[in-house]
Amino acid sequence: MGYLFGPVLSRRLGLSMGVDLLKYKTCNLDCIYCELGRTACLTSCRGRFVPPDKVLAEIFARRDEPFDHLTFAGSGEPTLSLDLGEIVRKAREIVGSPVAVITNSTLLTSPKVRREVAAADVVLPSLDAASAKAFRAINRPASGLVIEEIIQGLRDFRKEFSGEIWLEVMLVKDVNDHDAEMIAKAAASTNPDRIQLNTVVRPPAEPVDPLDQEEMQRMLEIFPGAELIPDWDWSVPAKTRDLLMELLSQRACTLEEISAALKLSSSDAIKYCKIMEHDGLISRRLHDGKLFFHAVVCRAM
Ligand code: SF4
Repeated sequence: MGYLFGPVLSRRLGLSMGVDLLKYKTCNLDCIYCELGRTACLTSCRGRFVPPDKVLAEIFARRDEPFDHLTFAGSGEPTLSLDLGEIVRKAREIVGSPVAVITNSTLLTSPKVRREVAAADVVLPSLDAASAKAFRAINRPASGLVIEEIIQGLRDFRKEFSGEIWLEVMLVKDVNDHDAEMIAKAAASTNPDRIQLNTVVRPPAEPVDPLDQEEMQRMLEIFPGAELIPDWDWSVPAKTRDLLMELLSQRACTLEEISAALKLSSSDAIKYCKIMEHDGLISRRLHDGKLFFHAVVCRAM
């Protein structure tokens, strides 16, 4: 066990159960904004990093947990895993939620990789540059990667894939923001379902700066039809918070019991529990193999 992580609250995918097919941190880019830090293994060679049968067994074991997407992401670039296509295909038969793949787009130049990624329901590629100079500055690619070919790979993928494509553009102050018009043109030419603009919000690999809110708003004029990736709303409605505290002060409850008692969807139940746990109001414990939540003031089981 240990190939799945979360579920985590994702700003783009809701409650996301992550699947990591890589060794930390394997990627063919070394983005200056990467929240994982510097790339430890910079390679464009695909390989097997984890045992597929064990990953699938873990997906099977956790298939009934509440999540909005099963998301292939993690310690680097998922398309570097030679097992991606097979695991995505089999995972779709196991879980009820849509399967998503987050990719840096670089290997979509390969028809084989495009076929593998197309096994997903939703694909979230990224494109931060439209010129070789900006590509080198922001993404610091492994040798042999050519930005024009990557953009063409995205166009080809669009023609072959009928599922949702949500293209992310990461904008970094004084690095690629001055190229925004060129990137916007390239992004539009790949015809994604959504273009999602992001800036640096988590601790980056290098000391780079985000665009401020006003600058991001201005980017919406340069990227027509695009959206800003929203900041996560870390609030719990006051009434729900009170009811949950009252319930969990009386007895510890599973997520299913919380959903039923407060008439919440399972993903809202886990989202609110995570937020209140983060705020130190409630805590969790395993009992007889089941996960229970309880108010911090009352530890009775
Ligand atoms: S592609 Fe993703 S994992 Fe790789 S360096 Fe860039 S941000 Fe990090």
